[in-house]
Amino acid sequence: MKKHSSNILLIYTGGTIGMIKDFETGSLKNFNFDELLQHVPELNLLDCVIDTHSFETPIDSSNMNPDCWEQLVGIIENRYEEFDGFVILHGSDTMSYTASAVSFMLENLAKPVIFTGSQLPIGDLRTDAKENLITSIQLAALRENNEPVVKEVGLYFEYKLYRANRTTKINAEHFEAFASLNYPALAESGVYLAIEYRALLKVDTTRIFKTYTKMEDNVFVLKMFPGINQATIHHLFAAPNLKGLILETYGSGNLTTETWFLKALKKLIDKDIPIINVTQCSGGSVEMGNYETSVALKKMGVISGKDSTTEAAVTKLMFLLANRKQDVGFKEQFETSLRGEIS
Ligand code: ASP
Repeated sequence: MKKHSSNILLIYTGGTIGMIKDFETGSLKNFNFDELLQHVPELNLLDCVIDTHSFETPIDSSNMNPDCWEQLVGIIENRYEEFDGFVILHGSDTMSYTASAVSFMLENLAKPVIFTGSQLPIGDLRTDAKENLITSIQLAALRENNEPVVKEVGLYFEYKLYRANRTTKINAEHFEAFASLNYPALAESGVYLAIEYRALLKVDTTRIFKTYTKMEDNVFVLKMFPGINQATIHHLFAAPNLKGLILETYGSGNLTTETWFLKALKKLIDKDIPIINVTQCSGGSVEMGNYETSVALKKMGVISGKDSTTEAAVTKLMFLLANRKQDVGFKEQFETSLRGEIS
């Protein structure tokens, strides 16, 4: 029997990866994505059929927003049956946010959706784009026992595939730009592709794939810092449409015990505005109640983001505020893993 070669849809949203140097002027410009195969002839060697789809106006990922996430989810939904896997080219700056958001917006995903990008444009001599692109496509095309190996939203960068909603951009110039400090890599590329099978998301493939497009953007991320000012906080917390707050706290979930601050938080909770506690450390987990400086938070009903990244916590908050199940409490839903984003 002839081996089924995978059909992959490559979606280009923008970012450095899709740029090419104009050697006459020295400036970077977006290249015509339909001509991708001409620029990266190595793609012809892969045992898969690649189709491409480009955003009409490719954007720097600093301009990403929930409308773009909705657009991406729409493309995947419309072409879900047609393709075995999806590779999304995206600027690295906000890739962890988009990839986390998309992971929540796709329920019962049974195919790979791999985000990648690069630090240097694809047309640059020392580019990291080619390896990132080629291996992402290989990972999206990887099948065993007639089904895809990866059935979740991943992020591939510099020889490692991560669970996307566990990642953070950690470096603005190293090729190793992302880290997943609270969850192991799903795969590592060396001479062979080493898959960490135990780390992959276990998926019930009999469940029907479902997409969500609504996200609530009336949310705010507040990073604690010594000297935080009372007047500013009162002004911010009085925002008329505020629907949810992410608190980036110190260490394992601690913050100032000044009464004015705790009272301001309690006032939000009394208005049914969920507050999520995530740590501003790069790794580790929130454990409210360990120190006196987090006891009050636990008592007033602040939600624990546990070991979630800020990127996962803020996009999960946007997702749950717009799509929560009405018969389960918000705190319980938030503290439960939806897509492997929290331990
Ligand atoms: N500023 C670019 C972006 O995020 C950087 C990159 O592509 O990596 O779109």
